[in-house]
Amino acid sequence: MSQLESKCPLTATKLKLEFFYNDDSKDGMCSKCHPCKLGIYDAVKILDAIQAGKGLDIYPALLMRIAVDVKDGGMCKKGKDRADLLAAFLKDFSDDLQRHIKGVCTHQVCTRLISYEIDPAKCTMCDKCRVVCKDFAIEGQKAVSGKLGFTPYRIRQKRCTHCGECIKVCPEGAVIITEAALAGEEKPAALVKHTVGTCPLHY
Ligand code: SF4
Ligand code: SF4
Ligand code: SF4
Repeated sequence: MSQLESKCPLTATKLKLEFFYNDDSKDGMCSKCHPCKLGIYDAVKILDAIQAGKGLDIYPALLMRIAVDVKDGGMCKKGKDRADLLAAFLKDFSDDLQRHIKGVCTHQVCTRLISYEIDPAKCTMCDKCRVVCKDFAIEGQKAVSGKLGFTPYRIRQKRCTHCGECIKVCPEGAVIITEAALAGEEKPAALVKHTVGTCPLHY
């Protein structure tokens, strides 16, 4: 899988738009026309916000508006192709986009939208995950044979940075990834500020 591919369509779309925006070669954005320059930038920012658990219901409409404006206002095929890419994502993966906006990445790719948990039925209390966790997000006591009463292992969600290291070292497959709607706790009260120069929606 190339660096611009992902099993998560939202992630793949964002990676491709971001790469185009930052690409200094002749294949990248030349920044000559505003609809493309501002629109692609804003699309990436909006997709970023959704991946960070800050999705808003207005974002699909904003993204579609950007796709239309870049298609209409972009002066070359490169920009129009990116508009088509964005429009295709919005059309083909609208349900997936809505799930992301609700805080769930069913592909378990968007790290802010998943949580790591320890299955107590599988955990043998070996301590390997706690040792490897650089964020001190795992607590528990290593089991000693013949003794009882140890604190079971668990992951403190507020400390976990979703690095995935604990999964790699667990010999029992006891660390699992679950889809986790952020339940509103990290949702912003206001919209993420952005600069959609192509879009007439003001708020
Ligand atoms: S649409 Fe084409 S000409 Fe316009 S900024 Fe994008 S890459 Fe440049
Ligand atoms: S995913 Fe990373 S930060 Fe989270 S508990 Fe595992 S090792 Fe710690
Ligand atoms: S590495 Fe796995 S088995 Fe060992 S303490 Fe952590 S979750 Fe339990």
